[in-house]
Formats: sequence, structure tokens, C-alpha cells
Amino acid sequence: MQYALVLTDITNHKTDRVFTYRVPQELSGSISVGMRVVVPFGSRKFVDGYVLGFSDTADIDESRIKPIARLPEAYPILLPQQIQLAYWIKEQYHTVLAQAVRLMVPSVLRKSTAGEKSVSVVRLTVPEVQEALRAVRPGTKKQAILEYLSGCTECAKSELAQKFGSIEQPLKQLCADGIVTVEKRRQVRSPYKELTPKHTEWLSLKREQQAAFEQIRDAIDRGNGDILLHGVTGSGKTEVYMRAIRHALESGGSAIMLIPEISLTPQTVGRFRERFGRSVAVLHSALGAGERYDEWQRIRSGEARVVVGARSAIFAPCANLKLIIIDEAHESSYIAGSHPAYSAVEVARKLARLHGGILVLGSATPSVEQYYSAQQGEYKIVNMTTRINGRALPRIEVVDMAAELASGNKSVFSRQLYKELQDTVEHGRQAILFLNRRGHSTVVTCRSCGETVKCPNCDIAMTYHLSQINSVGGANRLRCHYCGSEMPYPKVCPSCGSKYIKFMGAGTEKVEEECEKLLPGVRTLRMDNDTTRGKDSHYHILSAFAKGEAQILIGTQMIAKGLDFPKVSLVGIVSADTMLQLPDYTSREKTFSLITQVAGRAGRADTGGTVILQSYTPKHYAIADAVAYSYEEFYQRDLEQRRRGMYPPFSRMLRLVFMAEDPQEARSACYAYFLHLRQEIIKQAGYAETALYFNMMTAPIGRIRGQYRYQILLKMRVNEFTEALTDKFFELYNQYDNDRVYLDVEVNPSSLY
Ligand code: ADP
Ligand code: ZN
Ligand code: ZN
Repeated sequence: MQYALVLTDITNHKTDRVFTYRVPQELSGSISVGMRVVVPFGSRKFVDGYVLGFSDTADIDESRIKPIARLPEAYPILLPQQIQLAYWIKEQYHTVLAQAVRLMVPSVLRKSTAGEKSVSVVRLTVPEVQEALRAVRPGTKKQAILEYLSGCTECAKSELAQKFGSIEQPLKQLCADGIVTVEKRRQVRSPYKELTPKHTEWLSLKREQQAAFEQIRDAIDRGNGDILLHGVTGSGKTEVYMRAIRHALESGGSAIMLIPEISLTPQTVGRFRERFGRSVAVLHSALGAGERYDEWQRIRSGEARVVVGARSAIFAPCANLKLIIIDEAHESSYIAGSHPAYSAVEVARKLARLHGGILVLGSATPSVEQYYSAQQGEYKIVNMTTRINGRALPRIEVVDMAAELASGNKSVFSRQLYKELQDTVEHGRQAILFLNRRGHSTVVTCRSCGETVKCPNCDIAMTYHLSQINSVGGANRLRCHYCGSEMPYPKVCPSCGSKYIKFMGAGTEKVEEECEKLLPGVRTLRMDNDTTRGKDSHYHILSAFAKGEAQILIGTQMIAKGLDFPKVSLVGIVSADTMLQLPDYTSREKTFSLITQVAGRAGRADTGGTVILQSYTPKHYAIADAVAYSYEEFYQRDLEQRRRGMYPPFSRMLRLVFMAEDPQEARSACYAYFLHLRQEIIKQAGYAETALYFNMMTAPIGRIRGQYRYQILLKMRVNEFTEALTDKFFELYNQYDNDRVYLDVEVNPSSLY
């Protein structure tokens, strides 16, 4: 092994291959595959690279081969399976290899601050953060940092940098003003402790749990056979996961469990910490780069053999990976936005094969595509149909809001929901109110001219916020949910000057307001994007609710998942229709899934529970089937709908958006690409046959953040040409080179705005 094949950490299509380097004598004993190296490259003196293999012969003239300069670490950064996975990601997601490798390397290593053992911790030193906030200018970084700190008093500096970019200057000023301090410390405190349930012992599994566990156990022992665990909410899937993980550990392997968003499920993390102690590594989304690196080291060294984390935890360096579990596998958070836009489910499936391990997808409401592929034989379906406490799933009572309106009730609450709320509060129990829209009113229109108040930068209606959004921004403002721009609430119509302005479309703030108006003295908590800007604020709201500090928790889909509050006996779905109206082939399954998840929060205790669902379209099958807990029926209907409209899984869709400040520029870039690809399609009879739909158009939201948007949609049949045509599409995409037009590409886009 005279020569090392090195991939440099440069994400450029022109250098997207391994280069040959000489292994100097003094390194030949210590170098191995997967290690990081420092090499001279082109005109650059030193760049980072990774050894992906060795060779005895050189592919270029001996005299031109340069030596490896040094090895930053004495151990490999990449496992052999990760290298194979990176090659697969490159092909599958049409990216360069270096980009795929970056997914697996902790960011501190890439910034060459490796070995950093202490973290810089930023601490608030003033007792009253509100006071400090009033002293800084709104909209500044100083303000954003203080706001972020307000929920927690301290956090890692790297975390702030990740959130807000360059922070040296504002931090320096805050230090000088005596508002914060920066100190070096080993760790920052981790908050996820108080919500931990009591039982630390292993529960004896119920019959269905035992059967599910045995299926998983046998698959682990065989080393193949992926499983779709379809279990109703409250059927005890987590307990099954933990048993399966224990089995993987006992067999000498390691395990990864992905959960959609850790800050929303602190209880689950607590349970894992209790059962597996130090051998569990938690890759939390709010970890700073230093903390992330520490966990990465514990995994790499084998100290931690269980990894619990969000999407990117799939790239943790687990050797001998025997089991990967993806909880709530239908969640869209498992699909990365970009660079590359991978699906953690697809990646996990590949990774399981590379390790000879298995993949378990768990869900109460599998996505239609996942269930379809299970029925095609790619997963074995294992069902858990009963809840642990032996109780039936809570009955969902439907209220037709059109009838309610016809009878003169204009409130956001139907008479029935109002009565149940009253009853719940009177009996000292708790309620959850779910509405997938934040703000007070989602539309502000003029009664005189009919104009809707739009964002100056986007083709989007402004949302009215009654409460303060920022601690300093003030109340009573309009805000754009796409670009964040704000304006004071207009006293007259911006178009015609009329005084008659009306608000429509209730959001979470409106629900909160109504609760306080109709149920005097009731204490509420609201959890949405506006109340969870501070670090750990999710945690603070949830633990306050767990402690009974409020009777009603109001929130968006943040409150739909995984929460287990035994005192909650009423769940109100204030509007089940908000998702259904989106022009998106997955809006029906998202509606079905959300209703099921939210309803699952009720009746976890012995008191049972009531769910009240309000809708203007209660007969729509996505709602009616969810109300009846009929997953199978829903699945069959939706699959049929997709078959008729030729949507995935019966087709593949590609969408490419062109964005530029100058609409002409965006449009002509889009048109040029369109013509180019059309030529390719015309040339090949197979392509022409495969392309079901191919067109360019203005995007449904024609402007966001001042950028005009045009798009290309390509819908393809699934046949022997699909892959090749997809490759063509991405080939053109990768060649694209225009600084003034941004591109955004999506495969099977879940929203088409
Ligand atoms: P799911 O994830 O399927 O919705 P959970 O895993 O949250 O369900 O389980 C619901 C509740 O049942 C939890 O409070 C859990 O501690 C409890 N539980 C699970 N398995 C058992 C068991 N075998 N015996 C007693 N309680 C259990
Ligand atoms: Zn007007
Ligand atoms: Zn905007």
C-alpha cells in the first residue's frame, strides 16, 4: 500500500473523485482507510481529505505524485460502511462525494479545532432579562441573542454562532455592558431530566408487544428482514423498541433510534437515559458543535452503543450496527431540505444492508408510500392494535362547523367543545387544544375594497399577531410567516384608506384569547413557533403543563407528538381542515396522521378521554376515516386517488424552482433549462413516453423574500427510463452556473407553493 486514494474536502464537481497520494515512510505504519489526512492540493498548500482506499500502482506519472503531509488523528473518522454509504448517497441524491462525507464528519473537526475539550459558555449575568432586552435595539443580533438566552440563562457559544452567524461583535458589547459573561467550561447543563417517568425497571411486555419484539429479535438474529411496526397510539411501541435495542446490544452490536424532533419528546429521551445510562448518546438538535463532538467521540470509541437522535443521527459512527429504528417514520422531518436532500428512511435502509442489520419503521399512521412498499414485500408488517391500558382509543366526536355557523355561533369553539372545556376545567383536569395555525388572524382584509394585506416582499397574506412576537417588538403587529417581516397593524386599508378592516382565519392566539374570555380565571399555555424561540422553551412549557401550572395547552403540531400527560382528558381539534386545503398530494395523509396523533394525547389515564373535532368538511375521507380509526380504509382510498391522478408511488415528480430578484432573469433561466431538458426528452423515445407531464410556470407563490419564482415540473412514469431521465435532470442541474439565480430542487415535493 504505497499509495493512498484520497478524497479532498472540496465540494466541487470538477474534483469529485479520489486523487492518488504517496504515503511517506513515517506514516505507513499508522495510516488506515477512513482516516483524515492533510494533503497539498493544486495551488493550495494544505487541504483536508479522507483516505478511501489504497493502491500499489499509481494512475499518473510517479514524479507528479505528492506525499500526504500529516494525519490529524490516530483513528479513522469514517467507518468502512460509511464510506460505502457516502458513495451510495452520491449516486442516489446526485451530489458530490465530499458533500456526502461531510454529513458524517462533526463540524468541529472540519473547522480544525479538533480535540477541543472545553466549550465556551455564554451566561446571562443580569437577574432581569426583560430589562436588558428593553435596553437593546430591536431587530439586532444583540436582541436575538438575549432573547434566545432568556429561556435558559446559559448556552454554548458555538450554538449561538450556529443560530445567528458571526456573533463576536455583539457578544463583546454585551460583555462590556455587563449583561453576559463568556467562560470556558467542560459542559453546559442539560435540561431534559424532570420529565422522566418513574419506572426505570424493564416492564414485562404485553402479549402484542411480546409478539412484535420476537419478530424484531428474530430479524436481528438473522441479520435481515426490515419491519414496519404499525401500532396504534399508546400501544407501547417505545417499550418494544427498547427491548429490541437491548437485544442488539446483548448480541454485541449497536443501535440507532431516530425520533422526529427531540425537543418535542423529552419524555422519550428520559426513558432511554434511564434504561441505558451512559451507553446512550443523545444527539439533540440544540446541541452545540462542541457537545455534538463529545457525543460523537463516545459513539466512535464504543462507549455509547445506543444513539438516540433526530434525522442526522443516522450518520453517527456506530460500528456493527444491528438495528435502526425510525419512530413516527411517516414524519416529513426525516427528509432533509438540501445538501443533499436525503431521506433518512432510505439512508437507514441502505445502511442496515451494509452492516447486516435491520431497519424497523414505527408508526400509528404509516405514510401511504411506506405502507405501499411494505405491501410490495419490502417490509414485513407487524401490527399492534390495542392500547396498553386496555382502553379503547378515545372516541372522536365530530362537530360540523358549517351547521354551527348556520345556527348563529361565530366563535372558534362549537357549543359542544365549549361545554366540554368548561367541564374539564371545573373537574380540575387538563385539556389540549390543537390548531395548526399560529398568530391571531391569518388574513386581514378590507371590507370596502376587498383587498387582503400582503407582505411587501412576498405574495403572501400577512398574519395578525395580537401578542408580542419578540420581547421587544411590541404587540399588535402584522407579520409575514415566510420572510418574517413585520409592520404595525394598519388603522386604515393600505389600498383604499377605508377604516373598515376585518380579521379572518383564527390562529392559536385567537384560541388563547377566546379561552380567557369564555373561561374566566383559566390558566393557559401556548406552544407554537412564536412562544418557543428561546433555548429550551419547549421544555419549559411542557414541564409547566406537566406540573399542572395550566389547565389548557394550546398549540400547533408541536403538541401532537409523543406527549404523555395522564391528566389530559379532553383534546379539541379546533380546525381539522387547515392542512386539507393545501395543493399537495400528501395533504390527505398529513391530515389523517395529525388527527390520529392529536387524538392519541387524550385518555392516557384511567379517567378516559374525549376528543372533539371541528371541521367544515367532516365527510372528507381523510377526516372520516381518521375519526373511525380506519387506517386500512384510508390507505386504500388514498392509494386509489393517487393511482387515478398518477401521483407517487405511481409516478415520480421532480420540481426545480428558479429564484431571482429580477423576474426576467428568473424566468429566462427557467426557460433555458426547460428548452434544454425538452431537447433531451425529444431525442429519446423512452423519455418522451416516460414524461407524463413536463412544463414550466410561475410558482404558486410567485415571490418570497423579494425573490421572483419560476418552476419546472416533471412528472414521470415509474419504468426502466425513470432513473436515467432523473439523472439527466440532475446532470443539467449540477452543470448550472449562474450566481444571480438560485435553484431549489425537490424529488416528490411534499408542498408545491
Ligand atoms: P406509543 O409510542 O405506542 O404511543 P408508548 O410507548 O408511549 O406508546 O406507551 C404508552 C404508555 O404505556 C407509556 O406510559 C408506557 O410507559 C406504558 N407501557 C408501555 N408498555 C407497557 C407495559 N408492558 N406495561 C405497562 N405499561 C406499559
Ligand atoms: Zn380597502
Ligand atoms: Zn414576506
